[in-house]
Amino acid sequence: MASIAKPQDIQPDEPLLLSEFVQGYWRLAQWQMSPQARLTFIKQHLELGVSSIDQADIYGGYRSETLLGEALRLQPAIRQQLQIVSKCGIKLNVPGGPGCTVNHYDSGRQHMLQSVDDSLRRMRIEKLDLLLIHRPDLLMDADEVAEAFETLHASGKVSHFGVSNFSPSQFALLQSRWRLPLATNQVEINPFNFAVAEDGTLDQLQQQRVRPMAWSCLAGGRLLSDDSMQAQRLRTELTAIATEVNADSIEQVVFAWVRMLPSKPRPILGSGNIARVRDALASTKLSLSREQWYRIWVAAKGHGVP
Ligand code: NAP
Repeated sequence: MASIAKPQDIQPDEPLLLSEFVQGYWRLAQWQMSPQARLTFIKQHLELGVSSIDQADIYGGYRSETLLGEALRLQPAIRQQLQIVSKCGIKLNVPGGPGCTVNHYDSGRQHMLQSVDDSLRRMRIEKLDLLLIHRPDLLMDADEVAEAFETLHASGKVSHFGVSNFSPSQFALLQSRWRLPLATNQVEINPFNFAVAEDGTLDQLQQQRVRPMAWSCLAGGRLLSDDSMQAQRLRTELTAIATEVNADSIEQVVFAWVRMLPSKPRPILGSGNIARVRDALASTKLSLSREQWYRIWVAAKGHGVP
């Protein structure tokens, strides 16, 4: 009797090969770089092995993709060495936005198709390697999303599809309607917020062998700058562990802590400072014990394990 293939058993036409660390471009508009400096930054992280770029239609108030496109235009061939991820599904009430009166979510077919066309035009590229639904939309009709995925895939505009900030049930719902494996669930993971390790999100990804992408591993810089008791406890513990494992910085300990999760998250780096990118990558030389991993858990929670 023929067995029915489960989504995770079906392979898309071409494998998606993301780098172990991904460069985030959310803050690109704040970096105040000329187009040439943006191109130099791309080349520098590419040289370090960070070939995947994380973007979204809305980043920088719909400006970040354009800024990236200006850099890519200076050396179009470099695109072939990159994997470009972008997102859709949020509509912002800002100048240059879709003209709505309140920020909201839209995973409808028409918006998704328009959003991808806009992303491709802004970045001056012909195809996204990966498209994510940015946030769960309470009005998401999974059949309609799967239909939009099909159209985008058939037209050659998007190679792979995934989600971001989805609960396990939202992930399962969409996966039940989309014929190819969802490539990732991009979620927040840092010592201030690792709810996904406790609410079943990472269990589901581990079960399906889908690697998450981890955003804001340094809690947007709060880990280094926050004055709260929790942040101080964390920095004290991270500093002690950094000494024990010969890390160059407490950030490296955090990246090792995130990457130790068995679902194998790919950290998305948020800094536009290449020295900080290099520092983060050097965390791969570190290995934490389980006890060290849980010491960070205890510092984050302010109490011991149950
Ligand atoms: P992050 O690494 O947690 O924070 C980076 C910020 O921390 C930068 O402003 C950086 O400033 C600052 N920072 C301060 N000290 C630092 C240090 N010692 N080392 C490194 N950074 C330091 O990452 P994030 O920017 O919040 O998020 C990373 C990426 O995740 C984004 O670019 C975006 O692609 C993605 N993301 C996705 C979602 C989603 O919903 N899917 C949400 C948020 C973010 P400098 O630039 O001056 O170094």
